[in-house]
Amino acid sequence: MLDTAAECLIGLGGNIGPVARTIDGALAVLPRYGVDVLAVSRLYRSEAMGTHAGGSFLNAAARVRTSLEPHALLGVLQTVEETFGRTRESHWGPRTLDLDLLACADRVMETERLILPHPGMWYRRFVLQPLQEIAGPWRHPVCRQTVDDLLQRMDRRPMLVELPEHAGPQNVPDRYASAVCICRSGEVPEPAAGEDDPVFCRLQTADVSPAHLPAVRTPFRIECRDEAALQEMLQGVLAAALSTCRPCVAD
Ligand code: ADP
Ligand code: MG
Repeated sequence: MLDTAAECLIGLGGNIGPVARTIDGALAVLPRYGVDVLAVSRLYRSEAMGTHAGGSFLNAAARVRTSLEPHALLGVLQTVEETFGRTRESHWGPRTLDLDLLACADRVMETERLILPHPGMWYRRFVLQPLQEIAGPWRHPVCRQTVDDLLQRMDRRPMLVELPEHAGPQNVPDRYASAVCICRSGEVPEPAAGEDDPVFCRLQTADVSPAHLPAVRTPFRIECRDEAALQEMLQGVLAAALSTCRPCVAD
C-alpha cells in the first residue's frame, strides 16, 4: 500500500468477443479491488498490430486512483484479464481483454514483471489517442513530453526512424513507405540541449533488454537484443504509430 493514493493510467483493449461490454465489465469490477475509476475515454477502433494479432481492436484508456503499490495494481489488472477470459498463447496475439498499466503518477521503474511507464506507450497511437481525452497534459517522466506532445511528434512527416549502421536491409510495408524515412545512425545530428529531436525513434541492438519489452531508459530509443528482434520491433513500431485509430460507436 502507498501512504497516499496515486493517480494511475490504464490502457484497455481487446479483439475477441463483445469487447465493448468486456471493457465496461472490467472497469465496473475495479473498485472491488481498491481501484477507483476517475475518467474513461471513448472507445476507439484500431487496426490490429502485427500479423498474428487477429481482427481490429477496440481500445480505451482510464484514469484511476488507488493506494495499491504498482506491482499490486498490475496483479489486479492481470486477475481482471483472467476473469474476462484472457489466455496468453502468443505475444501480441488476439485477446478478449488486455489491461496495461501505462503509468503510476510519475514513477519510473523496471523489474522482471513491471516496467513504468509502459515501454510501448509513446509509439502506440492506439494508446495515446484514447489517453489524450483523459490525460492530455500528463507528462511522461522519461521522455519529458505530455501525451498531447507525443501525439504531435507522431504526426510529423516524414517519420524519421534511425537504425544502426550494421542493420540489414529493411522491409517497410508499401502502405507506410511514403510516411517513413529510415536513416542510419550518424546520418542525423543529435539535437542540441533543449532542441527538438527530429528522429521519431532510434532502434539499437544491445544485450541487456528484457525478453520482449524494451525499456525507455533514454527517450525515444528502443534496445533490441539482436538483429532479428530489431527487424520485428521496426515492423511493430511502424504498425503501432502509423495504423489508424478512430473513435467508434460500440458494437
Ligand atoms: P502486451 O500488452 O505488450 O501485448 P502482455 O499483456 O502479454 O503484453 O504482457 C506481457 C508482460 O508484460 C506481462 O507478463 C507483464 O508482467 C509485463 N509488463 C511489464 N510492464 C508492464 C506494464 N507497465 N503493464 C502491463 N504489463 C507489463
Ligand atoms: Mg498487456
